[in-house]
Amino acid sequence: MDNMNALLRDLHAERRERQGLPVPPVEVPAPVEPPAPVVEATAQDVAPDEAAPAPADADDGSVRDPDAVVVEQLVDDAELAVPPLMRPDQADQRFEEAVAVAVAACAEDTAGQTCYICLEAVDPDTNEGLVRGCSCRGGAGFAHVSCLARQAEVAVERGSGPGWERWHTCGLCEQLYHGVVSCALGWACWKTYMGRPEMDSLRKGAIGLLADGLYDAKHWEAALFVREAELSMRRRGGASEDIILTVQCQIANTYDALGLYQESHQMSRDVYSIRIKLYGEEHEDTLMGALSYATSLLRLERFIEAQLLLLNAMPVARRVLGEDAHLLRRMRFTYALVLYRDPGATLDDLREAVTTLEDIEGFARRVLGVAHPLTGRVEHHLGNARTLLRARKTLRPGNA
Ligand SMILES: [Zn+2]
Ligand SMILES: [Zn+2]
Repeated sequence: MDNMNALLRDLHAERRERQGLPVPPVEVPAPVEPPAPVVEATAQDVAPDEAAPAPADADDGSVRDPDAVVVEQLVDDAELAVPPLMRPDQADQRFEEAVAVAVAACAEDTAGQTCYICLEAVDPDTNEGLVRGCSCRGGAGFAHVSCLARQAEVAVERGSGPGWERWHTCGLCEQLYHGVVSCALGWACWKTYMGRPEMDSLRKGAIGLLADGLYDAKHWEAALFVREAELSMRRRGGASEDIILTVQCQIANTYDALGLYQESHQMSRDVYSIRIKLYGEEHEDTLMGALSYATSLLRLERFIEAQLLLLNAMPVARRVLGEDAHLLRRMRFTYALVLYRDPGATLDDLREAVTTLEDIEGFARRVLGVAHPLTGRVEHHLGNARTLLRARKTLRPGNA
């Protein structure tokens, strides 16, 4: 995946240059800390819509230097907005690699367990091992990726009940899959539906789910390519503006993960301003856009603007979506980050940041579990905010 990422990155730079857009640095630095107060935008956010002609996949079957083939294919497919990593003839291998990574990452957790679907420890046909990448605890939720995929496929075929949701959300704990398990399921989903016509809604959903999975596994370059392919496909198919805006919002979040903060900022600002005009400030999509935009302001250290934006959006979210809405929690999380990272933060700001993060940490531990990456992220920031608060109290003991 690393070599592929490097090739994708070079090609991405070339394309941007051709389009007269700023070229990202050659070595894209991994963000020092986990990105996403923003994201978790999943494929189900984008509803099915119309689409158009299927991309050609030229393959003459001749034997050539594999690298030359990859580079050639990168260029050919880029024109058609089909990243090479989505080529149908590579799907089995990508899936197997992703499963192997997920099984290895879960090995300690899954030792001595069995799959809750097929009841085996190791799949007798494929030798596939177990994973667990949701919020199930104790002895619950261990499964083979292949069994989870079959379960999702059947749920979709049934047409009633959970349906598509099974591809991204565990049926036991009702929480999203995360990390490398989400990535393996993304490949499973793409493998399942890639043979359908481009206008097929399941195929479109599968592209979104693959992008989510790649993002969750921190393959951000690859996620960006798949997301851009999705955007091209949606445009070709004459998708509605709200769907285009949703995909653009996801692209902005992926830019953010890649450390392309200026690009993320521009795109999220545009999406937010269009949504305000189209839907008004109370629409959930507008509120989602406000969060993305605020995150981009935070990245650019424009703390006051980020603070004002969230101070305006949070009461609206509370009124419209309710106190327990996930989006409101994400806004409060970002607001806490804005407060404690601002060099001009007052003692009260730091106290508020700590209190807010403690509250969110309690939720994360209770609902998502201690092993969940989001819980770790909240704990990381809570630790930072507490350290700053302690330091400030030491400096000004009179205020403690
Ligand atoms: Zn199984
Ligand atoms: Zn679960």
